[in-house]
Amino acid sequence: MDGFQIYDERFRALLRPGSQLVQLATGGTWTEGPVYFHEDDSILWSDIPGNRLLRYSERDGLSEYLKPSHFHNGHYRDLQGRLIACSHGKRCVERLEPDGTWTTLADKYLGKLLNSPNDVVVKSDGTIWFTDPPYGLIQPNEGYGGEQEQDGCYVYRLETETGELDAVITDMVKPNGLAFSPDERILYVSETGASHDKTVPSEIRAYDVVDGRRCTNGRTFALIEPGLPDGFRLDMHGYLFTSAGDSVQVYDPNGVWLGKILVPETVSNLTFGGPDKSRLYITATTSLYAIELATQGIQTP
Ligand code: MG
Repeated sequence: MDGFQIYDERFRALLRPGSQLVQLATGGTWTEGPVYFHEDDSILWSDIPGNRLLRYSERDGLSEYLKPSHFHNGHYRDLQGRLIACSHGKRCVERLEPDGTWTTLADKYLGKLLNSPNDVVVKSDGTIWFTDPPYGLIQPNEGYGGEQEQDGCYVYRLETETGELDAVITDMVKPNGLAFSPDERILYVSETGASHDKTVPSEIRAYDVVDGRRCTNGRTFALIEPGLPDGFRLDMHGYLFTSAGDSVQVYDPNGVWLGKILVPETVSNLTFGGPDKSRLYITATTSLYAIELATQGIQTP
């Protein structure tokens, strides 16, 4: 089949007869952080160096949603449907309120500024989990610069009610994308430390989530090549769909590689959307792509 590489027969069951990658929009510089709104069948995503958010819907086409975005990267929605954003520029995780204002949810850990929050997920208990590599500080076109104050690059868990912020993973070099398994017992995190140190493996790591608030037993889930694993999501089967240099790569819960959806630009991130969460939206360098699949994403809402 054109447009795919199939390593396991289970991959075919993820495709519809007409499944085909479609380019929906282009003109970005380095796109990231797609997030879907079922209310109006629209998608927002970041053009990080463009310092803006873009929006697309079939009805309205492509538009600029927010500029400056202060270098937003990853997005998610909380249990009330509010937009949660990682801001490289403000070095924080923030929330868009119904009145259009932004509330800073976390910008310091142990009294020091965060690096530049990169990607975020919301757990079913409402806690917000995010990664904090330094790309907004060290990539001149992806933030306002500044000194790194944290001793490392961690994965954090935020209780929004109390503001309590815990570093739950501290043994990675540059944690980047993250997502839970369907039962939320495993947290997957991508390692992109190879961007600046080739000795760091390009891998997605898996951690056991204990009591819904601690991470233990970190191990390699899958080594990703070509390129780096940046953002990723899981579907109803627990299959992991990850960005990679040449494609969206799909792995089963044991890390067995099922296949690839080939993409003509380097993929940064992806999310499920559409009325039944079976449309995979893909941000890849300058463009937004989509493909209809025969599975469903698990993220809410
Ligand atoms: Mg990322």
